[in-house]
Amino acid sequence: MVLILGAGLAGLSAAHHLQGRDRLVLERHDEVGGLCRSIREDGFTFDLTGHLLHLRDPEIRAWVGALMPDAFADLSRSAWIHSHGVLTPYPFQANTAGLPLSVRMECLLGFIETLKHGDAGAGAEADASKAAGTNGSGASVSAVPDPVPLSGGPEFLGTAPEPAPDEPSFLTWIHRTFGAGFAKHFFEPYNRKLWRRDLSEVTGDWVSWSIPRPDLGDVLRGAVTGSEKAFGYNPEFLYPAAGGIDHLPQAVAASLEDGVVRTGCDVVALEAGARRVTLGDGETHDAETILTSLPLPALARLTTDLPEALRAAAAELSHVSVRAVNLGVKGPPPHPDAQWIYFPEEALPFHRIGLPTALTPAMAPAGHHSLVAEIAFRPDEDRGAEASLDATLAGLVSTGLLASPHDVVHARVVDIPEAYVVFDAARRRVLPQLFRWFLDHEVLPLGRYGAWDYLSMEDCLRHGKQAAEWIAGRAR
Ligand SMILES: Cc1cc2nc3c(=O)[nH]c(=O)nc-3n(C[C@H](O)[C@H](O)[C@H](O)COP(=O)(O)OP(=O)(O)OC[C@H]3O[C@@H](n4cnc5c(N)ncnc54)[C@H](O)[C@@H]3O)c2cc1C
Repeated sequence: MVLILGAGLAGLSAAHHLQGRDRLVLERHDEVGGLCRSIREDGFTFDLTGHLLHLRDPEIRAWVGALMPDAFADLSRSAWIHSHGVLTPYPFQANTAGLPLSVRMECLLGFIETLKHGDAGAGAEADASKAAGTNGSGASVSAVPDPVPLSGGPEFLGTAPEPAPDEPSFLTWIHRTFGAGFAKHFFEPYNRKLWRRDLSEVTGDWVSWSIPRPDLGDVLRGAVTGSEKAFGYNPEFLYPAAGGIDHLPQAVAASLEDGVVRTGCDVVALEAGARRVTLGDGETHDAETILTSLPLPALARLTTDLPEALRAAAAELSHVSVRAVNLGVKGPPPHPDAQWIYFPEEALPFHRIGLPTALTPAMAPAGHHSLVAEIAFRPDEDRGAEASLDATLAGLVSTGLLASPHDVVHARVVDIPEAYVVFDAARRRVLPQLFRWFLDHEVLPLGRYGAWDYLSMEDCLRHGKQAAEWIAGRAR
């Protein structure tokens, strides 16, 4: 028997790819999907903030296509940045045209300064994807070691050594790659809002593939006319035309035999030595192998035979939570096609606003649109839901994205307790110890929070597939 803890995409994909084996998925919620659930209220559909599907791996693309034929709309990105009172296209570093001249000059001069030191990856557009297993390029990033797979584990369970004293922090990476102007006007304030900490505490290892790095020509063109080049890893993506990313996990769940997934099962204890799981109602389940997509620190807390030193180590792992303020609004959307907008300025509480009806009109009733404000917070910060709603409404009115709070016909504040794993020295120190111990006990962490990584939906689908292959390989 293989027990799979959590029915998010990673757990569901593992169950799908383990077809033919005795397996059981245990999920605490009353529906599958994890972070890919959708909320439907008052005719509006909200995901747990924007969930756009990028399928680069041909095998995963073929599998998802077969599971959900004709279900997806092919969309091109329309992402923007709001600063200095104007909207500029994403990415900021290739589109400063439209910003005040002094801002453009600071950004340009700072970028040119980085080239003098040979730090910026000239022409180093970082679209090299994780899927391809590459690490972009550019001198500053190459100082960050690539993760090495754990011996005896599947290829996705990689760990990197603790940062060396000369390894650039995320803050240093920003300055070396983009220069002081871009850092001041976008990267520092935006990332402080998102990570809620001093950026010198964050390591550079999550950024190498996700932040586009234009060359000098792109930066110059962007400052004069704006750029038409499609930068970054997500210029094209898929989204369910019927509205709601939950169609994806539901399709994977529908491919499983009856009884493979049990919802409403809260795992409260794991005895790893015996591979025994206990549920909230006292029921126990035994397994030969356990796959777990539970957040790693939570797994460490509920593992009864985990050595105390490892439990203490797991408590050092940090994450950021996100509060989503979901709003249903009368009338047409405030922007003709924007799908999301970034907000670096500190005066506004949200770091990003999503406009779901730009993905498909099915997200709202006729004559309405919807907005999702994302507010990052540390688990130890309590901002209060009511205060977040008030601050969001005021911020939307001040930026012209909402004509009046009276136009809002639906409002709901939803928290995502674990949203972004923090990449820091503790993460690099702690993960190898925890992964080793769990793997030695036939307990395999997977998925975004099991592997404690910055992973996409596709990555999690791939984890499930690779975990199944790992089990099959060992059985052989
Ligand atoms: C704000 C935000 C935006 C995102 N946007 C995108 C995007 O645009 N594109 C993209 O590709 N990816 C995006 N992602 C990432 C994507 O959501 C995740 O990578 C993926 O959904 C994670 O799947 P998972 O199965 O690993 O984890 P989860 O979805 O977290 O699944 C874990 C499951 O375990 C269950 N569980 C937890 N504890 C217990 C317990 N004790 N007992 C039983 N069950 C338990 C949970 O209920 C959950 O169902 C985004 C993530 C966030 C936070």
